[in-house]
Amino acid sequence: MSLSQPATPVPQSPATGVGRHRSALVLYSGGQDSTTCLAQALTRYDRVETLGFDYGQRHGVEMQVRLTARQALVQAFPEWRARLGEDHVLSLDVLTQIGGSSLTDDVAFAMQADGLPNTFVPGRNLLFLTLAGALAYRRGMSVIVTGVCETDFSGYPDCRDDTMKAMQLALNLGLDRRLLIDTPLMWLDKAQTWALAQALGGDKLVELIRRETHTCYQGVRDALHAWGYGCGTCPACELRARGWAAWTA
Ligand code: ZN
Repeated sequence: MSLSQPATPVPQSPATGVGRHRSALVLYSGGQDSTTCLAQALTRYDRVETLGFDYGQRHGVEMQVRLTARQALVQAFPEWRARLGEDHVLSLDVLTQIGGSSLTDDVAFAMQADGLPNTFVPGRNLLFLTLAGALAYRRGMSVIVTGVCETDFSGYPDCRDDTMKAMQLALNLGLDRRLLIDTPLMWLDKAQTWALAQALGGDKLVELIRRETHTCYQGVRDALHAWGYGCGTCPACELRARGWAAWTA
């Protein structure tokens, strides 16, 4: 399999790194999407910090992977090192207290009666963005970058573009700041997200994302597949594998 094939054309989101926006807080879980977002932020903004959430997710391995993947990124791309600042982790145990999701409770992945997968954690992204806004306020940062998308989004309503726009408006009003929520993957499918990684950092970045990031909901990292580590059967692995197959076809 060649990683050097011509990249699929990738729609570009506005060049938010120019003009008055110089610093960005990236919601960073150590997965394919947020690592691609982090790489892009490091090409666009003078100062980039990362934010992760510990909410009792069953795939707790992501809390370690996000650190090793972040480190691998600046080792592979030393030109980004000076731009990458602090990492922040906030605890959101409250999501475990609410429970009822297969991401936080020990229940099998399944579809709910309302058509959503039971991996949906109600309010998760709303809380993530609210806390990211509060941290950005304290850190004097003007952009929040998040890897949510509507294309391969499992139907999660809190990943929708309208939700992001509404959250941006709420944060701007509630904090009395001009904060931008930048969603570079909003209209990309998983194949196009691989293509974006290729465009940003060539085969080196694609290989880093393949090996160093973690997407699997089950936290499995015992076998390296063509598309990366994972159980291969959970909804997150299926999306990632399908995107890789489409991109490399
Ligand atoms: Zn999996």
